[in-house]
Amino acid sequence: MITDSVEKQDPDLFAALEGELDRQRNTLELIASENFTSRAVLEAAGTVLTNKYAEGYPGRRYYGGCDYVDQAENLARQRVRELFRCEYANVQPHSGSQANMGVYFTVLEPGDTMMGLDLAHGGHLTHGSPVNFSGKLYNVVSYGVARETGRVDFTEVRRLASKHRPKLIVCGGSAYPRFIEFEQFREVANDVGALLMADIAHPAGLVATGHHPTPWPYCDFVTSTTHKTLRGPRGGLILMEKDQENPWGVVAPKSGRVKRIGELLDGTVMPGIQGGPLMHIIAAKAVAFGEALKPAFREYCGQIVRNAAQLAESFLELGYQLVSGGTDTHLILMDLSDRDLSGKAAENALEEAGLTVNKNMVPFDQRSPLITSGIRIGTPAVTTRGMGTTEMHLIAELIHRILHDPENEATRQAVKGKVMELCRQFPLYRA
Ligand SMILES: *Cc1c(COP(=O)(O)O)cnc(C)c1O
Repeated sequence: MITDSVEKQDPDLFAALEGELDRQRNTLELIASENFTSRAVLEAAGTVLTNKYAEGYPGRRYYGGCDYVDQAENLARQRVRELFRCEYANVQPHSGSQANMGVYFTVLEPGDTMMGLDLAHGGHLTHGSPVNFSGKLYNVVSYGVARETGRVDFTEVRRLASKHRPKLIVCGGSAYPRFIEFEQFREVANDVGALLMADIAHPAGLVATGHHPTPWPYCDFVTSTTHKTLRGPRGGLILMEKDQENPWGVVAPKSGRVKRIGELLDGTVMPGIQGGPLMHIIAAKAVAFGEALKPAFREYCGQIVRNAAQLAESFLELGYQLVSGGTDTHLILMDLSDRDLSGKAAENALEEAGLTVNKNMVPFDQRSPLITSGIRIGTPAVTTRGMGTTEMHLIAELIHRILHDPENEATRQAVKGKVMELCRQFPLYRA
């Protein structure tokens, strides 16, 4: 039993795995938060490190037998600090959401005031949505984008901050096509004495390679996922440019020494909100960070951005509205509110033609979150397959053919054929 392959011992589950591989190979993945990891990352994630309990941190574990997992976690930490040029890193959060929870639980008490980008304007659930722990535990003041520009409305941010005096301001989001304005947020945070956290879950790869401005020295905390533009395994991380003594007077119980902020964050992640770290995933993070330090990854991120710019240009030429009029990053947000087509209908029609995108609220959306008036389109995954600007122009035309006539079966089949051709031309996980 223990030596049998999945294929041999569990044909039902194996069918799901094969089906998913086939789907990834034979469709165009344009969901902005998705990517394809390298074989090396997949391999590390599928190792015996999944068997190991390692509560604690390298050199200070609650379990024996941790020599090798310590090596893996130390490699992950050293590499991610080099990648983001910073002093502190915690690579244990199981997800981006838990990285955010790690910071919130360290600096906020329940009932404290925090600010974040409204979900409907491109923010993330964990930035204060009422259905998320963040919205339930804290007094959340959401800011939005300006109607005319589609960019963060700093007049509004400043007004809300001076009125509500948040303890923490969160910047970044999931559907914000422009650079995160770290420096402007810092000015507001300074004016009201707030801490500033940037959630770079989406543009992390671009930040690491200089294709997006750096959050340093403006942000006190940076959180991220590892599986979006960073192209690692599914997971999260927390960074600080510099570690220092905490200003809240928290001392170590025995010595009376003032704790460093990094110690507080470490303690929040484990034992505060998590138990045993996923050591196989931390090993895979180490592999991904190693890959991201190589020149090829910098080139890859440059191509992601050029591809997104090309998609935006092609859509504008075809007469589409894009939130903020374009993009600085890996994603665009198409605004369909002037059309007789919802985000949901667009997503479905495109999926049937082999193009995967997600419906998304646009700022000031008149339709509900389950219907929406927008679709979000990203280039990280198709760029990993090796596609360039020529293919982006073609993809924009294919999307246009579907959106122009979403019910037309002949068009659907024709587009699907073109999608298959592209997939064959740029193969994924070749056997
Ligand atoms: C994706 C995302 C997250 C959450 O990541 P999970 O790993 O899905 O929990 C957090 N913040 C932002 C801005 C994101 O885009």
